[in-house]
Amino acid sequence: MRQRLPVGGGIPLIFLLWGLVGLPAVGGWQEIVHAASRLVDLTYSFDETTLVWPRNPPFHRDGSQRGGTADEAWYTTGQVALSEHAGTHMDAPIHFAQGQVGIDGIPVEQLMGPAVVIDVRASVSKERDYRLSLTDLHRWEAQYGVIPNGAVVLMFTGWGAHWQHREQYFGSTTPDVPTTLHFPGFSEEAARFLVTERHIAGIGIDTPSIDYGPSQDFVVHRIVNGAGLYGLENVARLDELPSYGATLIALPMKITGGSGAPVRILGILPE
Ligand SMILES: [Zn+2]
Repeated sequence: MRQRLPVGGGIPLIFLLWGLVGLPAVGGWQEIVHAASRLVDLTYSFDETTLVWPRNPPFHRDGSQRGGTADEAWYTTGQVALSEHAGTHMDAPIHFAQGQVGIDGIPVEQLMGPAVVIDVRASVSKERDYRLSLTDLHRWEAQYGVIPNGAVVLMFTGWGAHWQHREQYFGSTTPDVPTTLHFPGFSEEAARFLVTERHIAGIGIDTPSIDYGPSQDFVVHRIVNGAGLYGLENVARLDELPSYGATLIALPMKITGGSGAPVRILGILPE
């Protein structure tokens, strides 16, 4: 008796699935993934040199390995310990707003969106405690149009140049003392405008905090998190994104109830 063929009848299952779901048109995800030159990794590597907020424990990894010889197979593993706010990370809404969601509760569709990059390097070069103003937002919109719905608004200060130097990055010879810090951040007015007048997914910055260094009330955190939105901090390589046209994908580790998490951020450049 003739055996019934399994599903696909010898046609590789993958082709069958392609036929069922249909492939994305040219310009879809395949092109994006294959055109590696269009992807920008906006994430710093995590290791013992990773910068963390004052008084937070440093990133730590214990690794072990064995084998690699002719008679023993290679094997390596490790354990890590880190603050939820170490290196390139996402602040969850609950971080500064009681009752808001933790990092695992952010809807996945909020983790990607148009990247709006606001270049304030010229202002920062004159004032290290510069705060992104309403004027900066209006200037960007005059050039590129209204900030689109679902946007991730990124403040580009150029601070990434200091990443290797803890004292410069925190703007203090005593970077472990939180009252002595100096670096740029968002202004209260700009944060309030973004969460009330625009429909954004979150904000981000290439400094240690979305609030500027001298802040002691963390008002920008309170406004952004209070609106159910996230903040991205220590974002890397913002100089590789255009002011407008890129798409951002920011995927944090899904820690139940986490106040934040390490995040892998990708920028997809426009055609
Ligand atoms: Zn944080």
